[in-house]
Amino acid sequence: MLFGKILIAVDSAPIAAHAADVGCELARLAGAEVALIHVIDPELVNAADTGIQPAVFAASAKDEARKLIDAIRLRLPQGNTREFVEIGGAASEIVKAAKDWPADLIVIGSHGRSGLKRALLGSVAEAVMRHAPCPVLVVRAKD
Ligand code: AMP
Repeated sequence: MLFGKILIAVDSAPIAAHAADVGCELARLAGAEVALIHVIDPELVNAADTGIQPAVFAASAKDEARKLIDAIRLRLPQGNTREFVEIGGAASEIVKAAKDWPADLIVIGSHGRSGLKRALLGSVAEAVMRHAPCPVLVVRAKD
């Protein structure tokens, strides 16, 4: 099977839900497994100035990430979807998950929350394309 395992990277921008729809339709046609990944920015977890334990922030950020993934999972026909929630650099964690799982295809939006719309690709999308261990399907934002 060409694409047996498809990794879909989601942030909270609407294009991520669209990319997930495309990735899952492809997975349905290919009979592939799907995993959704969301990467938490370490700065959200950095509690140095607050006196609050970093683990408390990390737990709350992971809860938010799971809610985001659950909202996307509801849109998908597959019942058995894996999820990866990581803390770190978005592109490097997506590439690492693709190597470790391992994925045969990464599906990613052309622009996410941090991407400049006038650039051809957002920075995460570009870095994933440069370093991915497998093909990358870039789903363009709707105009
Ligand atoms: P960007 O390059 O930041 O404009 O985002 C492009 C795409 O990268 C998004 O549509 C998502 O598919 C993916 N992406 C960006 N940030 C994250 C993140 N924190 N976790 C998972 N995927 C992400």
